[in-house]
Amino acid sequence: MSSITDSMNQIEAAWIAEAEQRLASDEAIQRAILDSLIRFYNLMITVVECGTPGMIEPILDEWVRSSSRIELDKHSSNVTPILNQIFSITVETARKNLENGDALALIETLLPVFTHSYLYVAQRETQIQIEDMSAELEEARESLEQLDKSKSDFISIAAHELKTPLTLIEGYTAMVREQISKEKESQKESQIEILLQGIDHGTRRLHEIVDDMIDVSMIDNNLLKINFQPVWINRLLELVRQEFSQTIETRMLRFEIIPFAGSNELTFGDGERLYQVLCNVVSNSIKYTPDKGQITIGGRILPGFIEITVADTGIGIDPDDQTRIFEKFGRVGSVSLHSSGKTKFKGGGPGLGLPIAKGIIEAHGGAIWVESEGFDEERCPGATFHVLLPIRKEAPEDKLASLFRMVDKTQKEQSV
Ligand code: ADP
Repeated sequence: MSSITDSMNQIEAAWIAEAEQRLASDEAIQRAILDSLIRFYNLMITVVECGTPGMIEPILDEWVRSSSRIELDKHSSNVTPILNQIFSITVETARKNLENGDALALIETLLPVFTHSYLYVAQRETQIQIEDMSAELEEARESLEQLDKSKSDFISIAAHELKTPLTLIEGYTAMVREQISKEKESQKESQIEILLQGIDHGTRRLHEIVDDMIDVSMIDNNLLKINFQPVWINRLLELVRQEFSQTIETRMLRFEIIPFAGSNELTFGDGERLYQVLCNVVSNSIKYTPDKGQITIGGRILPGFIEITVADTGIGIDPDDQTRIFEKFGRVGSVSLHSSGKTKFKGGGPGLGLPIAKGIIEAHGGAIWVESEGFDEERCPGATFHVLLPIRKEAPEDKLASLFRMVDKTQKEQSV
């Protein structure tokens, strides 16, 4: 009778050829294990020689890890069926190529190796499945936490933002009432107009905040309608300059619009919405730039796009926050620092301006991002916002409208 090692050497070539042929039928399995089949076989020989089944574990571990990476099926074993195949290949090759007694002895010797392998694979796969599930659970927990934080941020910011204009309205209303009764008594010159202006200011601010909230919810629900019309970027920029001229003067800022190629050419976009974007970005530049700072608007034409840049010499934005500020309520800093100032230095706000700008620009097929060296209130490295807009020579076709047109046409044709 041959020794077990001799038997194993004797059937090695046949075993590998058979394994290759059978396991290669499944490409995913082939990718994962074919290269290591020979190593597995040699390890079986070593295990048989040393009598330590544990020596087979590293290769099984490799299989388990690579099969979980290719994710054949996350919740069932991927390696056990391969072991089944290998076991039957071993039995068959031994029976075909060895004397009966040698084949039986070999199978008997290898049985504990396979039993160990099955147990080890089952244990490792369960372990990996548990790790996967824990990671998924952790992810779900983090998103829930984030959702919860957004909710409480929303409540806190909404309450804070709405309180200031409400207090204004209450205060001015009380003052109007008082003034009316005083004037009745003393026939003094009317102060009511000034007080009414205060009420106006409060209600306007409340309107702006509520409108922003509505815009955000429309963007979130994909309901934002872009009304494509002919627009000229330079005209929009001029309107923005007019909008902020008073503030620019009060804050002693230098405000410059550098004309650039393409800015005076016609393109199609939603003029009102684009104006809103530019106002949001420019009002931020004003808010986060100290008095006497500089705001420069420029741009350039790129193949198929027009790029507008708004650069300021303000406090800048930390690289870690440069994506977050475009998320809802993604303002940087503490909620309690918020005021309802729209242009006051570091006036803050509900943190909706940039997400709205992003929603509008993306609905146009464009992109918006910011570049800044970082945040530094002393050194003021500044920030540059980039708005990239596709140049359109006509309004894009409204898919829904054309669908309705088509249905209408078909109905008319059928009724004729
Ligand atoms: P907010 O209402 O707080 O201004 P935005 O969505 O317009 O909300 O901006 C989000 C945050 O991005 C701001 O709170 C501010 O921290 C930061 N930010 C925006 N623009 C600038 C800028 N030009 N310079 C520095 N920080 C800016």
